[in-house]
Amino acid sequence: MAVLASLRTLFLKVLVFLRIPSFAYTIRQKMADYYFPLKDENLIREYFMRQALEMGELALSIDEVPVGCVFVLDNKVIAKGMNDTNRSLSGHRHAEFAGIETVLCKYPASVFKKVDLYVTVEPCIMCASALRQLRIRAVYFGCSNDRFGGCGGVLHINLDAGIDRCYPAIGGIFREEAIMLLRRFYLQENDKAPNPTAKRNRILNTIVDNMSIDNTRSDALLEAEFSETACEPLKLASATSMAVY
Ligand SMILES: [Zn+2]
Repeated sequence: MAVLASLRTLFLKVLVFLRIPSFAYTIRQKMADYYFPLKDENLIREYFMRQALEMGELALSIDEVPVGCVFVLDNKVIAKGMNDTNRSLSGHRHAEFAGIETVLCKYPASVFKKVDLYVTVEPCIMCASALRQLRIRAVYFGCSNDRFGGCGGVLHINLDAGIDRCYPAIGGIFREEAIMLLRRFYLQENDKAPNPTAKRNRILNTIVDNMSIDNTRSDALLEAEFSETACEPLKLASATSMAVY
């Protein structure tokens, strides 16, 4: 692999030396995809969750609740989303819905069965239900949503018996970063609130407790490779182990 990388670097330098950098860039992309694909499962999850966190940072910078997401098809991001409820004054403009709209502008709805969602916070019950109706392939999230979570935090919308196919939801990917984003937001003063509360004296709590959400059933679902009868393996899964990413 080292020899291959050296040859690749040499080849690209020759292209740049010959003053055809745009061609060199195209070749670099194709060679990177071909020779150095993301093969490690954890690296793949972290790679895409970082991009979701970037969207969360963007949301924070414009005073939205900092939740960000990316939709991934064949290891490529096809849509990004971030919370938009404050700007739009619409409570349903969650990051997932923004991303879904972008996907549907480019692809038919049937594409979701091959699409994975990476989102910094566990989808709420509304979004979890929409994702199930769209037949999303899998959901990966950072921290759990203890008040409104639809993927184990409160309800198991993704796994409960129903007409639409189940989908696995794996939490805990860059969980601390996702929590700290939310804490930074709630330290800010909300100028849009009827009675803005002064929060200048509050201190950012950097201690994060262990995650309590159970991923075991979703792990079993992932192992079932998203088959049409993928709910069956859930019966085999223990419900006792905790998610530690
Ligand atoms: Zn939601």
